[in-house]
Amino acid sequence: MPCRRIDMGEGTFAIACTRGRGARPKPCIVCGRDGARLCDGVLPTPSGGTRVCSVALCSEHSVRLGSGSDYCPSCAAARGLGGGAP
Ligand SMILES: [Zn+2]
Ligand SMILES: [Zn+2]
Repeated sequence: MPCRRIDMGEGTFAIACTRGRGARPKPCIVCGRDGARLCDGVLPTPSGGTRVCSVALCSEHSVRLGSGSDYCPSCAAARGLGGGAP
């Protein structure tokens, strides 16, 4: 945590925390680090349509295809990618 304790004198302390400015990336769903990428996987919806998965992924946990699309582990597995079940 980016918090600092500031000595105000006479035994008084203040805690100063720097909060991120603007929108920080969402945390990676796998490890919780900053998710620099979003899953491009398309998921079926219960109503019969589709939606983009769009979960946040860090560079380590996104499965990137040559086309520049990134997939989360579950979407990659659904497509037979990422070293899941054969
Ligand atoms: Zn991650
Ligand atoms: Zn996904």
